[in-house]
Parts: sequence; structure tokens; C-alpha cells
Amino acid sequence: MLTEVADGVWVRQSAWVWTNSIVVRGEDGLILVDPGIDGSELNELADDLDRLGIPVVAGFSTHPHWDHLLWHPRFGDVPRYATAAGAHAASLARERGQRMAAESASGIPLELFGLVTPLPADGGPVPGEIIEHQAHAIGHAAVLLADRGVLLAGDMLSDVLIPLLDSRRPDQVGAYETALDRLGEAARHVDVVVPGHGAVAAGPEVAARLAADHAYIEALRRGEEPVDARLGPDAPWLPAHQSNVEQARRQ
Ligand SMILES: [Zn+2]
Repeated sequence: MLTEVADGVWVRQSAWVWTNSIVVRGEDGLILVDPGIDGSELNELADDLDRLGIPVVAGFSTHPHWDHLLWHPRFGDVPRYATAAGAHAASLARERGQRMAAESASGIPLELFGLVTPLPADGGPVPGEIIEHQAHAIGHAAVLLADRGVLLAGDMLSDVLIPLLDSRRPDQVGAYETALDRLGEAARHVDVVVPGHGAVAAGPEVAARLAADHAYIEALRRGEEPVDARLGPDAPWLPAHQSNVEQARRQ
């Protein structure tokens, strides 16, 4: 089911890690941002889009991790974009991503996996401002839809996922700090933040999300073990959390 969270911005949440598929109405039609996850869910999303009655004109992937590189034939053979760095990384790791997708979810159309190209400099059909940064994944981008008061944050500012550092690149604590500063600047123009995973944040919750991620990263910066409400005993990202702490101490 699609929920309209702002004018012309809809969200559908998957049971898989509370993943948000996002639909944005652009000038010429709909842009799908990070649609996911299971094949049956992608099919239901296509039903939802049919009900909206507006054609899909493009896709956008916020970053080149497998759960943000999915597509379904019913969305149409339209251009799918990412940042230039994101598109390059997605093409290099396409087979690995396909394997991870096949292992993690069912019914994913693997032949359509990861087929993204660099977004044109003028943004092409994708509305708003692309905020590219170096945190979490190569070529990660948020999309600021200032006219709707919405920030699409990718895998940042989640209420369920802790900040996940990219373990393969240097100075990810610094990269995360810079990214949060830029997202904080962007968030001054919005009252809704849609994370890649978790609940949509509205009103005061937006500042709370920024504060939670800042606090986590600042603890890493001090060489401490972050204390964070998202780190329950069953949280599947505990290993990633441990790797964050170790990575920060090595820096
Ligand atoms: Zn993700």
C-alpha cells in the first residue's frame, strides 16, 4: 500500500528491514526511488502505480547496495539513474549484488538488477536537488525535494538502522560527519524525511534523527562505544556496529 507523505511523494514499506520504496511525481511522470524488495512486493507496487494512473518515467538508486538496485518489468523499460560514482560501483559489483539479492529475498527479477546509469548534470527527469556524499556507500545521494518539504535520505537518518560505515574506505567517521552536516543543512528546508529503512520522520522527529546519528558518530570519534536505542540485543546490525567501533579505533 502506498502512503502519500507529502504532495506527490508516496512510500510503500517492505517487511524486509522496513525498506521504503518511494514514488515521486515529477513533471512528466513518476520517478521510483529504491523500489523493493521481494518480487511479490514489486508486483504489488506496480499495482499501486497502476491505480495512481501516472506513467513511470525513471528510476533512481540512492546508493549501490543490492537492496537499492532492484526493478520489475512492470515498472517499464525506462532510464534508471544513480550518481556517476554510484552507477560505476553498481556495474562493477553487479554479479555480487545479484547473488546477494537472490540469497536475501525471493522472486527478484535478477536480469533487471543494478542497471543504472549516471544521472545527467541537470537531473533529467529526477526532481529536486541531489546531495551526494561519501558516507555509507560510494556515490550515496540524498534527494532534497524542497518544494514538497521532503528529504529522501537513503540509508541515513533511520530510526531502526544505526549509521553503517563503509568498511572498505578510509576516514568514514569524517565522511559521516560531513554527510550529516550536509543533510542537516538540507533538513532545514523540510518537515518530512524518508529514510531507506524505517519509519518516515515528520516534524520534530527530523531533528531527533539527525541528533541520534550525530551522537553515534561523535561517540565513535571519541573512541567510545556508542550507546544507542537502535542497538537492541536482537538487532541484526550488531556485527556491523562492532565493525564500526573497530574501524573508528583504527583511524
Ligand atoms: Zn539499504
